[in-house]
Amino acid sequence: MEYKVIRSKRKTLSLEVKPEGVIVRAPFFVPKWQIDRFVKEREPWIRNSQNKLEQKKRALQQVEPLSEEDIKKLAKQAKKVIPERVKYYAPIVGVSYGRITIRSQKSRWGSCSAKGNLNFNCLLMLTPDEVIDSVVVHELCHRLQMNHSAKFYREVYRVYPEYDLWNKWLKKNGPILMARMAKGKLDSLGG
Ligand SMILES: [Zn+2]
Repeated sequence: MEYKVIRSKRKTLSLEVKPEGVIVRAPFFVPKWQIDRFVKEREPWIRNSQNKLEQKKRALQQVEPLSEEDIKKLAKQAKKVIPERVKYYAPIVGVSYGRITIRSQKSRWGSCSAKGNLNFNCLLMLTPDEVIDSVVVHELCHRLQMNHSAKFYREVYRVYPEYDLWNKWLKKNGPILMARMAKGKLDSLGG
């Protein structure tokens, strides 16, 4: 099996399967034969990961692209739905906010500026309501913490205890939705 070795000051071996190939991260002192053995022992896992990546790639290539009209419809719907969710959650988080903008983006679900202006992706209209809420809560919590620190997440979980579950949903299914927006640009593949 072919793989690429990246040596560094680390203390243990680690393995990563990426679209561009298998990468082993290794300490300087570990000899090549030991890395070979490490990779060989994990071959079934590597094959399995490669298959999964291949499936993901195929799924992304087969998606139905959204037409401009579809996107306009989603944006219109989002302009009704999302401000309502923001209005509902803002007092629970205990924050104010500025303008709400709906965008059709290929890479982000939401963002929050230092002034409290909020952006949301219209593709959220293609996700479960719980995902919409989790993104709204995430962005509103940035009004308290402009980072992803433990303190930030403590606030997110307080307001939305099921956050992880729906964030996972978005991580898993989000790239497919983004690909419908950005057909042909499959750069969200990988991790
Ligand atoms: Zn964030």
